[in-house]
Amino acid sequence: MSTKHDAVTKLYQQYVMSTYAQTLVLDKGRGTKVWDIDGKVYLDFASGIAVLNVGYSHPRVVKAVQDQAARLMHVSNLYFNENQALLAERLSTIAMGGRCFFANSGAEANEGMIKLARLWGNPKGKYEVICMKNSFHGRTLATAAATGQIKVQKGFEPMPEGFCYADFNNLASVKEQINESTVAVLVEAVQGEGGVIPADDAFMKGLRKLCDESELLMLCDEVQCGMGRTGQWFAFEHYGVQPDCASLAKALGSGFPIGAIVSGPKLSEIFKPGKHASTFGGNPLACAAALATLDVIEEEELVARASDKGTEFMELLGGFADVYEHVKGVRGRGLMVGLVLDTDPKPLAEKLMEAGLLAIPTGDTVLRFLPPLNAKDEEYEEALEILDDCLADWHGMTTDEAGE
Ligand SMILES: *Cc1c(COP(=O)(O)O)cnc(C)c1O
Repeated sequence: MSTKHDAVTKLYQQYVMSTYAQTLVLDKGRGTKVWDIDGKVYLDFASGIAVLNVGYSHPRVVKAVQDQAARLMHVSNLYFNENQALLAERLSTIAMGGRCFFANSGAEANEGMIKLARLWGNPKGKYEVICMKNSFHGRTLATAAATGQIKVQKGFEPMPEGFCYADFNNLASVKEQINESTVAVLVEAVQGEGGVIPADDAFMKGLRKLCDESELLMLCDEVQCGMGRTGQWFAFEHYGVQPDCASLAKALGSGFPIGAIVSGPKLSEIFKPGKHASTFGGNPLACAAALATLDVIEEEELVARASDKGTEFMELLGGFADVYEHVKGVRGRGLMVGLVLDTDPKPLAEKLMEAGLLAIPTGDTVLRFLPPLNAKDEEYEEALEILDDCLADWHGMTTDEAGE
């Protein structure tokens, strides 16, 4: 037993609120690899939950953060800073064509997006947001209320008003929820925490049409599925639809906290001075990390790589369904991938961790893979070998029986 690991976890037990089910004590990372405090190395196919799209400590991002930290970390939003302007230009140009607001997290970006929608609807008395069952939008009170999962809300009642829930991928169910106070529909183009479930083509196109007909805003939570993860910069781009607003966070700053609201033209002029704010939001250091992240994704052509590698990886994972009884299939988009099991994924995830591969149990039966978009071919080979061995072991088979 390691003394370093135990020393850290002991401090946690005494001084850190136990909101998480934590295991390893991680110490340093590079690319797809991460080391624990006792020197054991892991292939991280979870990417800090879709944060490290360009891998751990990408030299380009590290340099940008170091240089900016030495120059100017923070200015209040009473002043302009060049990095925020450049980042807003880059993000708006990718797809949305409007303006941005910067925050520090996914929940804060979604909270701001909900406020923006309410401010737009306020003169017409509209405020209610239709959210999807099984969605995830954050842990603040409003974003927990927007999240269509009882377990996120339970114990925190009364929840803020103004949210209702429709079945994901069911347009008729969304229609049923519309009333005179409805202002917007909020959707993830690929549900992440809900179990890696992509929206159907007809659903996303139908939502856009429905929102236009009923004068509602279409809001996309791209916190997890954005930033190239699914093989497009924004996951909604797969559907050929344009929402009125999107939120970003996770991979935007490669681990430096930053979130963003990216609006289309319709919502660009709604916030006026004094209506919304965030002390750290869009400070020059966070924006430097995000600008460098965008550079890496562009220069290493990682959006196309996510698409190509995702297709290949999903095909290979799908093959395990022919061999292993508890593997039912694979689903996802690009490098947002879920291996669907017929049982609790946690024991398998633990086995994988033991063998040096990190993946995330999601929902009741899904093991989620979110490798860095620039993970190397040989890292996929190694990950698939570890997975094959662990699946065989978990099924009580030798690899010979499994046909290796
Ligand atoms: C992680 C996540 C959030 C919340 O982001 P935080 O930075 O943890 O507040 C919101 N929406 C989706 C889709 C997410 O995956």
